[in-house]
Amino acid sequence: MSATATTPPPGAVERAAGRRVLTGDRPTGRLHLGHYFGTLHNRVRLQDAGAETYLVIADYQVLTDRDTADRLAEHVGDLVLDYLAAGIDPGRTTVFAHSGVPALNQLLLPFLSLVSVAELGRNPTVKDEIAHSRQASVSGLMYTYPAHQAADILFCKADLVPVGQDQLPHLEVTRTIARRFNDRYGPVFPEPGALLSDAPLLPGTDGTKMSKSRGNAIPLAATADETARLIRRATTDADRDITYDPERRPGVSGLLALAALCLGRTPQDIAAEVGTAGAARLKRLVTEAVNEHFAPLRARRAELAADRAAVRTILRDGNARANELADATLREVRAAMGMRYT
Ligand code: ATP
Ligand code: MG
Repeated sequence: MSATATTPPPGAVERAAGRRVLTGDRPTGRLHLGHYFGTLHNRVRLQDAGAETYLVIADYQVLTDRDTADRLAEHVGDLVLDYLAAGIDPGRTTVFAHSGVPALNQLLLPFLSLVSVAELGRNPTVKDEIAHSRQASVSGLMYTYPAHQAADILFCKADLVPVGQDQLPHLEVTRTIARRFNDRYGPVFPEPGALLSDAPLLPGTDGTKMSKSRGNAIPLAATADETARLIRRATTDADRDITYDPERRPGVSGLLALAALCLGRTPQDIAAEVGTAGAARLKRLVTEAVNEHFAPLRARRAELAADRAAVRTILRDGNARANELADATLREVRAAMGMRYT
């Protein structure tokens, strides 16, 4: 892995004014605390620091690991509400949907010519996603996922991508595609860097990566009761003495990490406080910490949810802005490749 795969130097977010940032999510369900601490919080900070920020709702990519995009409109609406509640301002951040920006998708064709089938097959994130896929057989779209993501990032010439750890191999593909395109056709694209957060891989209630589709997530917009229920069911172990040991005690350590993020303390410090009071005490502490930390965001989201028409307006305007940019980039790409017909 290249030098991009490291935690950013202190102050990287604050110095982001003038950078162009792209991130996004698949509309496969409500966002969870892994998204918040892994990337969403950084997106808001980048926006507030003056970076030019783009957020893609990756609707086509829902189909990488399932046959149909079920309840798509509902999931898209939920994503936008989660963004707004977390502090994304559609006046400053362009929120758009993949399928609404045809020129972006067309970049996939030249980009696919720049990577080999073997490179796509070796990608560890693709392998992991295949392992968790809901499909009986692996679709071609699964293999083109990283190149499609390169189109998402490069259509707006983003140079900074705030992501969770699982996305680093994909970002490496984007960098490779940008480099190869520039070498072959002349300089068009930047080679974007990753921005990891302090929580690049937040575990879920079973101790593995918190994921929308793995049944181990605590949704950002969960109620206080739902949060308590999910945390009560979290996997822990038989040792009553609570210690932070992510390797040997993934369940307990995941809960400690979550409480630490909410409370602004270290997991070790919280482990020492709980001591031999056991997992039940730890779970109560985590539940209170999460519910308290997210109460304002959840209240804001409930207010925003009353106005679903606003979500449509945000996407219509965002798509229009993204289309302008994508059309310009595609024109440049075609010109660089010698495809001029006027
Ligand atoms: P799915 O299970 O449908 O793939 P997901 O929960 O993995 O959903 P994505 O939409 O694939 O979510 O990821 C969106 C962004 O959130 C990516 O940048 C990813 O790295 C980040 N992210 C997702 N889960 C976590 C996590 N547990 N910790 C930190 N970052 C995460
Ligand atoms: Mg994922």
